Amino acid sequence: MATNKLYFYFTYLGYSLLAISILCLLVTLTGSNTIDHIAWGLSGIGLLMAGGLLLIFLTRANRHVAHQNNGIWQNGATSRGFSAWVLGIALTGFYVLLYWFPDSLQGLITAVEPLSRLLRNKAADQWFLYGLFYTIAVLVMGVWALLKYRNNRYQLIRTCSVIFFQLGFAFLLPGLLLAFNQPEFYFSYFWPLKYDYLFPGTVSYLLENGQALGFFMVFWGAILSFLATPVLTYFYGKRWYCSWVCGCGGLAETAGDPYRQLSDKSKKAWQWEVAIIYPILGFIILTTLLLWINSWSGGSIFGDLSGGFARSYGFFIGSIFSGVVGVGFYPVMGSRVWCRFGCPMAAYLGILQKYFSRFRITTNGAQCISCGNCSTYCEMGIDVRWYAQQGEPIIRASCVGCGICAHVCPRGVLKLENGPTDHRYQGTTLISRDAVTIL
Ligand code: SF4
Ligand code: SF4
Repeated sequence: MATNKLYFYFTYLGYSLLAISILCLLVTLTGSNTIDHIAWGLSGIGLLMAGGLLLIFLTRANRHVAHQNNGIWQNGATSRGFSAWVLGIALTGFYVLLYWFPDSLQGLITAVEPLSRLLRNKAADQWFLYGLFYTIAVLVMGVWALLKYRNNRYQLIRTCSVIFFQLGFAFLLPGLLLAFNQPEFYFSYFWPLKYDYLFPGTVSYLLENGQALGFFMVFWGAILSFLATPVLTYFYGKRWYCSWVCGCGGLAETAGDPYRQLSDKSKKAWQWEVAIIYPILGFIILTTLLLWINSWSGGSIFGDLSGGFARSYGFFIGSIFSGVVGVGFYPVMGSRVWCRFGCPMAAYLGILQKYFSRFRITTNGAQCISCGNCSTYCEMGIDVRWYAQQGEPIIRASCVGCGICAHVCPRGVLKLENGPTDHRYQGTTLISRDAVTIL
C-alpha cells in the first residue's frame, strides 16, 4: 500500500516537472528581452530531462519485461488518440519554425548560448539548438529503450551504440571541430544520406579550409560511401548503419520506440515505399553526377541547372521529408517514415542487403502460433508473420535489423543471422499435421 502511494507521489512529481518545464520553455520562447532567457531556458531543459527520466523509470523499471507493451492500443498517446495528434502537431510546428521561421526561436537560441560557447566557441544558432534537443531526446529516450529491453543483450548493446554515435559523433565532435577552427563535419553521416558531402562545392571547401584534416574528411566520406558500406553490409546487413550508427535511426529506435506499432503494414504502403525511395536515390546520384560534370566543365554545360537540382533536393527531401514528415509525424505514422519512404542511404543499403549480404532473419516456422506480435512491432511495416508461417527466411531490402520482431516473439521463432550466402533464401521444412503421430 505504502509502495503504491509512493509510486503515485513520484508519478505526480514527474508530471509536475514536465508541466513546469513546458511553462519555462514557453516563457523562454515568448518572453520579452527583459527576462533572463538563459535561466528560464536552461531550467526548462533541465526540468524536462528530470521529469522525463523520472516518468520513464517509473513506467518501465516497474513493469515486467514481458508486459512492456501492455495497453499500447488502449492508450491514446500510442494509438493515434487526441494526445498523439497534439504531440504530432507540436513537433511538426517546431520543424516549420526551425526551417522557415528561425527568428521565432530566438528566445530558445539565446538560452543555449553558453552551451554553444562552451562546446563550439561560437554563437548559438537554430541548428545548435536542434542538435541539442535531438541529442537530449536520444539520451533520455535511450534510457527508456534500455529499461524496456533490459533482458535482451542485442537491444542493450544496440541502444548504447546509437547513443554513443549521436552524442559523440553527431553532437560533440562536430562542435569541437568548430571550436578548433576546423570545418564542421559529421563522421557518422555519408553520401547519399549526407548528399552534399560528395558534391564538388563541399569537397573543394574541405580541401581548401581543412588542410590535412579536410583531406582526411573527403577521404573518409568517399571510403565510407563506396567501400566500407558495401563491405559492412555484406557481412552484417543494413543494420550496422540503420540500427547502430545513423542519427535518424537512433532517434527512431529511442524517441520513436513508443510508436513503432503504427507503421503501415499494407501492400499499398510497400508499393509506395518502392515507388518513392528508389527514385530519390536515383535523383541524388544524378544530381551528384551533374554537379561534377558541371564543375569539370567550368559550368559551361548545365549552368545553374545542377545547382537548382541540389537546392530542390535540399528543400523537399532534406527539410520537408526528413524533418517535418519524418519526425513530426512519429505519433501518427510510426517512427520510420523517413527511413522507409525517403532515405537514399536506406535505399542504397537495401539493395546491397537484398542481393549481396550474409544477413537474414531465419524463421522456425513450425513453432509459429500466428500471434502477429512480430508484424505489429515491425517499424518498417514488414509482415513478418507471413514469412514465419511459411518458414521462409526474411530477406527484405527495408529490414533495418532492429531485432524487435525476434524480441517480442513469444515462441523464439525468429533469429537474426549472418551466414553463408548460398541457399540464403531456403526456408525451414515445416512439419505437417499428418506427419506427427501423437499416440
Ligand atoms: S523485420 Fe524485424 S528486424 Fe527487420 S525491421 Fe522489422 S522488426 Fe526490425
Ligand atoms: S511473433 Fe512469433 S509466434 Fe507470433 S506470429 Fe510472429 S513468428 Fe509467429
